[in-house]
Amino acid sequence: MPIKQLPVELANQIAAGEVVERPASIVKELVENALDANATQLTIDIDAGGAKRIRIRDNGSGIAHDELALALSRHATSKIADIDDLEAITSLGFRGEALASISSVSRLRLVSKPATQPEAWQAWAEGKDMQVRIEPASHPDGTTVDIQDVFYNTPARRKFLRTDKTEFSHIDEVIKRIALSRWDVDITVNHNGKRVRHYPAVREQQQAHLRRRLAKVCGSSFAQDALYFQQQTHDMQIEGWLAAPEQCRYQGDVQYSFVNGRMMKDKLINHAIRQAYESFLTAERVPTFAIYLKLPADQVDVNVHPAKHEVRFHQQRQVHDFILQTVKQLLFAHNQSQIDHDAA
Ligand code: ADP
Ligand code: MG
Repeated sequence: MPIKQLPVELANQIAAGEVVERPASIVKELVENALDANATQLTIDIDAGGAKRIRIRDNGSGIAHDELALALSRHATSKIADIDDLEAITSLGFRGEALASISSVSRLRLVSKPATQPEAWQAWAEGKDMQVRIEPASHPDGTTVDIQDVFYNTPARRKFLRTDKTEFSHIDEVIKRIALSRWDVDITVNHNGKRVRHYPAVREQQQAHLRRRLAKVCGSSFAQDALYFQQQTHDMQIEGWLAAPEQCRYQGDVQYSFVNGRMMKDKLINHAIRQAYESFLTAERVPTFAIYLKLPADQVDVNVHPAKHEVRFHQQRQVHDFILQTVKQLLFAHNQSQIDHDAA
């Protein structure tokens, strides 16, 4: 075959292969966009596990009329401008791909109104060259992204969708992680027209308030008994909740880690925690935790994986040992207090 430039839609569908694994990946991208736009309130409507519909409304900064077409096109972002920005990412998004990718494998409609603009507009992309159409709309300040029929035009991907229940449980998990990373945001989730989750905003960062949300996400027994800790060096900070070894679960369903507010499934962090628990834990139990690591943005590379599930630390050893020592000390102190308590 001769070499040909791919049509925009096809190029975007190929890119979508890396970012949009299932409806939950769409929810993650859209929620991250809303948070990057400083939204404090999210309403997430899901139909049929997300395959039929995913609609996310936020009260964030919105997208101006003359930027709607750009928002829908690939390699267009308001979050970075040059390579220096890429070295120290502070937003959740930066690739400028999500909306274009999602829009190429579903029916996507974007409706938005910045507070400074008197009217709202809606936009969607059509055809092989993904021409953007724009029409007047009605919408309060903020943005709604409405997605229907995920993978309707990519049957090979649609085949991999599981039952509505399974797909929804993946979405639920993504939202739990968001709920744990952003206490200050009010999140409502409706599935098939019924409200299934509500995480009210935690306005004051007090333990009692934080633990209430922790209970909603991780279960009340974890929230009640978990040990809170906080530790810092000159440039790293870690805080969070850990289950005491005797309270740890038998399955790894409560293992949450966040790096600079970004949800992660990080091998290095998990390894450090596992190692810290090693001598305290009986064989069948697994570490149970929600931990938050903060370090300077230029000390982590988030541009490692298209779905941004992974990060790379510049100082791997230091990060690992910092977590290991902090958690170990906490567990040791807890263990000691148990022994003293039993002896008294
Ligand atoms: P990225 O998040 O990597 O920049 P996206 O394709 O996810 O790329 O979004 C493209 C752009 O559209 C963003 O940079 C942002 O300017 C705008 N945008 C997307 N969603 C929202 C939203 N909910 N509120 C405000 N702006 C948004
Ligand atoms: Mg994005």
